[in-house]
Amino acid sequence: MTYDPDNVFARILRDEIPSDRVYEDDEFIAFRDIAPAAPVHVVVIPRGEPATSPDGLGEADAGMVGRLVVTATRIAREQGLAERGYRLVMNCGEDAGQTVPHLHLHILGGRVLGALG
Ligand code: 5GP
Repeated sequence: MTYDPDNVFARILRDEIPSDRVYEDDEFIAFRDIAPAAPVHVVVIPRGEPATSPDGLGEADAGMVGRLVVTATRIAREQGLAERGYRLVMNCGEDAGQTVPHLHLHILGGRVLGALG
């Protein structure tokens, strides 16, 4: 899928849509989800024009994806989730309910999350 530069996360990156940012560095930004599925629900996204979903990733993305996960664990700790635990989720495509075509990782925590499914 070609990258749509007007997708909602691209617009958040350009500050065309306001967001409650909790973290940013040269490579990633993280902000609170507008429709939180848990008491803490943060979305971490790469800057630029990454793959539209995990399905679009290749070998060249391995380092970035590793740093994305490590960054998310650091944010989770900063958000006070490390002791009780949390979930990292990447949705891929229609069956997973992916709605925004810009690679992203959800951090969910702050309550018992229950079974996957
Ligand atoms: P997906 O379902 O694609 O894995 O995740 C996209 C997420 O983006 C959803 O959880 C949705 O609530 C969130 N989202 C959509 N539009 C906005 C927005 O304008 N601002 C913020 N902060 N989150 C958004």
